[in-house]
Amino acid sequence: MSLEITNPVSVRGKKRIIFCDFDGTITENDNIVAIVRHFNPPGWEQIVDDVVSQRKSIREGVGEMFRLLPAARKKEVVEYAISNARIRAGFSDLLAYSEAHDIEFYVTSGGIDFFVYPLLAPFGIAEDHIYCNGSDFTGEQIEITWPHPCDGNCSNDCGMCKTTIIRRFPSEAYTRILIGDSVTDFEGAKLADVVFARSHLISKCKELGLPYNEFETFHDVIAVLKHEEDSH
Ligand SMILES: [Mg+2]
Ligand SMILES: [Zn+2]
Repeated sequence: MSLEITNPVSVRGKKRIIFCDFDGTITENDNIVAIVRHFNPPGWEQIVDDVVSQRKSIREGVGEMFRLLPAARKKEVVEYAISNARIRAGFSDLLAYSEAHDIEFYVTSGGIDFFVYPLLAPFGIAEDHIYCNGSDFTGEQIEITWPHPCDGNCSNDCGMCKTTIIRRFPSEAYTRILIGDSVTDFEGAKLADVVFARSHLISKCKELGLPYNEFETFHDVIAVLKHEEDSH
């Protein structure tokens, strides 16, 4: 297959930094949807639909979905989430490539701590390079907590706000690379210098006229990075 690069990654002058989504990107499927589908509390499908079609903010929708689940089922929920997830091919290779080529790597996830951290544990990513939402099982229902909310520049009510994190790395100093698949990546994709997209994020980039590189495994991402590196 010949390599088609539709959104090149400049390696000149600036430090490259990757902001990588978790659900549906690092993992093959969306873990939040998998959890609610498995436990199947009445009303979850409408909430997913409202979030995907952007009638409800991500923070509202995710909060509402987990509130449908009793906190007493914590063990089952956590075990299901972790055993159900599959890591997308090439992930550890992308981490190794980034390390070797001085590319900073951050996980920016709209997922929840109780599955994000355990699933990433084998990969040795520093904990302060992983952003996700939190969880509280002390009440009757599961309550999602939001330690990384939108700053004053984002009115999207993201929950875990990717643009707030991306803005901490100014484009004058960084080539900001976003890897993602879905609704939690839309705002970040508008801001990033380079987008790697699959699934719904492809449709959204097309709709907004944003350039992107399509990927299915992380080997596709490495191929683009490597091509740019080699051509200098
Ligand atoms: Mg995702
Ligand atoms: Zn936001």
